[in-house]
Parts: sequence; C-alpha cells; structure tokens
Amino acid sequence: MTTWRAATVASTARLTSTARSIVLDVPGWQGNLAGQHLDLRLTAEDGYQAVRSYSIASVGPGQLVELGVDKVVDGEVSPYLVDEVRAGDQLEIRGPLGGWFVWRPADVGPVQLVAGGSGIVPLAAMIRARRTSSSVAPFRLLYSARTPDDVLFAPELDNAGDVEITFAYTRRAPDGFARKPKRLDRTDLAELTLPPADDLTVFVCGPTGFVEAVADGLVSLGHDPARVKTERFGGA
Ligand SMILES: Cc1cc2nc3c(=O)[nH]c(=O)nc-3n(C[C@H](O)[C@H](O)[C@H](O)COP(=O)(O)OP(=O)(O)OC[C@H]3O[C@@H](n4cnc5c(N)ncnc54)[C@H](O)[C@@H]3O)c2cc1C
Repeated sequence: MTTWRAATVASTARLTSTARSIVLDVPGWQGNLAGQHLDLRLTAEDGYQAVRSYSIASVGPGQLVELGVDKVVDGEVSPYLVDEVRAGDQLEIRGPLGGWFVWRPADVGPVQLVAGGSGIVPLAAMIRARRTSSSVAPFRLLYSARTPDDVLFAPELDNAGDVEITFAYTRRAPDGFARKPKRLDRTDLAELTLPPADDLTVFVCGPTGFVEAVADGLVSLGHDPARVKTERFGGA
C-alpha cells in the first residue's frame, strides 16, 4: 500500500458549470499510467477525515498531476473540490493506484473508449498518452453526457486528431442533432462502437449503472468479457 503524501493545489480551472480541473503539485511524483487513479484525503480541523478516489487526467513525467472532478450535489467531498479548493491549499494523496484499467503506448491493438459523464477523465488520459507517445493504435470514443455543456475537456476532444469521437446526450442535444436525448442502449452500442475483434480492448468508465448497462450491452454484442475493462465511479 502506498503511503499518504502532501500535495499542493497548483491551479484550478472550470471544465463545465459543475466540474473543475484541479492540478496538484506532488513533490516526488514518479508518473502514472493512463487510466490510473489516486486516493485523495481531506482532514477537517476537528480531525474528521474523508477519502475519495479520483482518476488522473494527466500522464507522463513531472510532478504536476491533473484531476477532473464533477460535483455530486449532495456529496461530502466533491462540492468542496469543485467550489472551494484554491491554489495553495494542501491536500493528501496516495497513488498512483490500479493496474488493470490502464492503457500503455506499447499496446498496438484497437481501442474503444466509452465514457459516461466524468468517466471521461481516465479515458482522456488514454487519449493524451496516445498523442504524446505518437501511437497509431486505432482509438474510438463514445461519450455520453447530459448536455453539450456538460462535456469535460471539450476543446481538447475537438482537437483529438484521428481519434474518432461520437457524442451522445441524455437530456439535451444540440439543435439538429441526429439522435434524440436518451441513455445509450444496445442498438446505439452496435452502431456507434467498434465491432468485436480479436485484439480490441474496450474501456468503459462512469457512474455504476452506466458502466454495468454498457458492459452488459457490449458482451451481448459478442465482445469478450475479459477485454471489456470497466471502472465504476459510484452512484446509481
Ligand atoms: C476509481 C475511481 C475513480 C474516480 N474518479 C473520479 C473522477 O475522475 N472524477 C469524479 O468526479 N469522480 C470520480 N470518482 C467518484 C469519486 O470518488 C466520488 O465518489 C465522487 O466525487 C462523490 O464523492 P462525494 O464525497 O462528493 O459524494 P458522497 O458523499 O460519497 O456521496 C453522496 C451521494 O452521491 C452518491 N454518489 C457517490 N458517487 C457518485 C457518483 N460518482 N455519481 C453519482 N452519484 C454518486 C452516493 O451514493 C450518495 O448518495 C471516482 C471513483 C472511483 C471509485
């Protein structure tokens, strides 16, 4: 088990009306793989502590570590991170953690990414890792968000080069958008994701219910369950 270490908030930036990028300065950080997460611990003045996991959006060397946090309105930790944390604040982190839900530049097979809401964070790290390593592994992303205003890392995704990106919306779509707002179903998955292939890897990330529905749908379409890697963020 890795130990807790100090992190200082280096900068923050709005990603959407409910989500914020938080860049931490972590002395001694030795880098992370795309898809890994860390544990973050907050300690109140009375000693009360809360620990939550957050995926790491950044990849590569250096001691700056970026998170992307979306606010769960009645949550204990995420409203503080999205609305209150400031540059200079001290936090504690532990990580990087996780060795299964990761993409390595040495992996040359095709990759299908499926994100729900803030589940885009580790998948954005994979897109970043692909770009910085000049990998040519075929990448496709299906990103389900509530509305176009709820898309995290939108400018970056708009400039993701040859990564094929499809957006889907659950509450409001742009004017003239072909698909009406709804949750992804099996038909959507069949139409909007890569078909099963021997060396295809799928990464699915988001709220628990989203991940389970998407993973079940993909397996029913013939994907090998062992190649459908999932990360559940919690919630319904
Ligand atoms: C491996 C891992 C990586 C994660 N990475 C990210 C990330 O990159 N960005 C991010 O924003 N979150 C991420 N999460 C979710 C995060 O850990 C917290 O669960 C989330 O921020 C809510 O914490 P909270 O203290 O605000 O809410 P809590 O006080 O823990 O929960 C309040 C209420 O919200 C519900 N709830 C908890 N989590 C969620 C959720 N994710 N969606 C909807 N409802 C929820 C609870 O069931 C409860 O009813 C990740 C979780 C895991 C396990």
